[in-house]
Parts: sequence; structure tokens; C-alpha cells
Amino acid sequence: MIRKIIITIDGWSSCGKSTLAKQLAKELGYTYIDSGAMYRAITLYFLRNHVDWTDQTEVKVALKNIHLHFEPNAKTGISEIFLNNENVEYLIRDLIIADKVSDIAAIAEVRTAAVAQQQKLGKKKGIVMDGRDIGTTVFPKAELKIFMTADIAIRVERRFKEMYDKNPNINLEDVKENLEMRDYIDSHREVSPLRKADDAITLDNSNITMQQQLKLALKMVAKLGKA
Ligand code: C5P
Repeated sequence: MIRKIIITIDGWSSCGKSTLAKQLAKELGYTYIDSGAMYRAITLYFLRNHVDWTDQTEVKVALKNIHLHFEPNAKTGISEIFLNNENVEYLIRDLIIADKVSDIAAIAEVRTAAVAQQQKLGKKKGIVMDGRDIGTTVFPKAELKIFMTADIAIRVERRFKEMYDKNPNINLEDVKENLEMRDYIDSHREVSPLRKADDAITLDNSNITMQQQLKLALKMVAKLGKA
């Protein structure tokens, strides 16, 4: 390994960004950071503490009381998110959080706080971060930017399977609605909307396996001749 780089993975909801990010981090010995987990943990705090997020002052006070950090899971080695020292990795995957997270992630103050912490985490490079604005706003100078996409039907199916294991009462239509709503809000918000960075490489994984997607991404890394 010659020089560590920053790899950003952005894209639509549930198109396998975190799977690829984890694969790459493992393969390269890099740190994986799930930026969406930060917005989800902030949402959990807002819901638990009945924060009125339409009130700027309430949002500012709440943000001061939120401390997020990542710690690797002792078994898997994959980093997990802690909200004020509580591991909330499992809780934040609930549809109740998914239902509100895009509204909260659109708030300018929330983004400023999250982006500042994300940029700190990338200081030493050797990081793979996935999200919606990582290649455009968080690390606009990242060495490798991947923009992921997949057919909506495939994305819904994947997310449904993932959530069904936790909650068999989940319904396919609700999952589809949530994905479409988040994609719409994420790509239409004023601050850092989801879009492909001009220098990002598109990876459509609708019809390829996880192994094939990793191979493709590793080829991109090799091409850089730096990692
Ligand atoms: O990646 P994940 O689906 O967990 O992200 C949850 C939500 O957090 C997204 O739908 C989006 O609203 C927000 N998000 C964001 N910017 C990021 C990562 C996530 O706005 N960099």
C-alpha cells in the first residue's frame, strides 16, 4: 500500500452503498464510515426528546446535546454508531426513523454539524464513506468517487428482505413508498442535494453480484495506482 486515499460512495437509497463500502474497507484495510447512520442517530434523538425541528433554536440546543461516535464491533470489526455513548446501530434501522430522517437531514444546521464531523473523520485518509453528498460536499477532492444506482424494483426488494428479518409485519408497499419519498427529498433539498459529482464513476449494480461489484470497484482503485 503506497498512499491512503479517500473513497466516497453516494447514490440512491438501498442500492448497496454500505455493502460495497464495507467490502472495500475490509479489502483495503480502510475505515468504513456510514454517514447516513449519523443522520439516523440525530433523528432518533429528535424523536425521543420531542424536538420540534421546525424551530431553529430547539434544533441548535438539541445538536449541542448530541454526541456521536463510531466504534468497531468486537466481532465483525465494522464500525457502529453511538449516540451519547449508547450503541444505536440496531435502533436506527427502524422504519419510524426512515420515515423522518430525510426531513431532518435537510435542515442546514444538522448538515453543518454532521459534515464537520465527517470531514474530521477523513483527515487521516484511508477511509470509505457512503452517503448522499460525500463526493460533492464532504470530500470534494476525494481520490475516488463512486455513484451507485440500481433499478427501483430491485432496491425495494433488497430493503424489504433486510427489514423483514427484523419485522415480519413490514409491507412491501410501505418500503417502496419510503424509498421513493427519501430519494425525492434527498435530491430536491436546498442544502447539498443528492447528485452525482461531475468526477464520480457510476456503478449500476442491478444485475451484478456482490463479488462482481467489489471487483469493479477494486479495478477503479487499482487504476488510481495509489492504494
Ligand atoms: O444511507 P441511509 O439510507 O442510512 O441514510 C438515511 C438518510 O440520511 C438518507 O435518506 C438521507 O436523507 C440522509 N443522508 C444524507 N446525507 C448523507 C447520508 C444520509 O442526507 N450523506
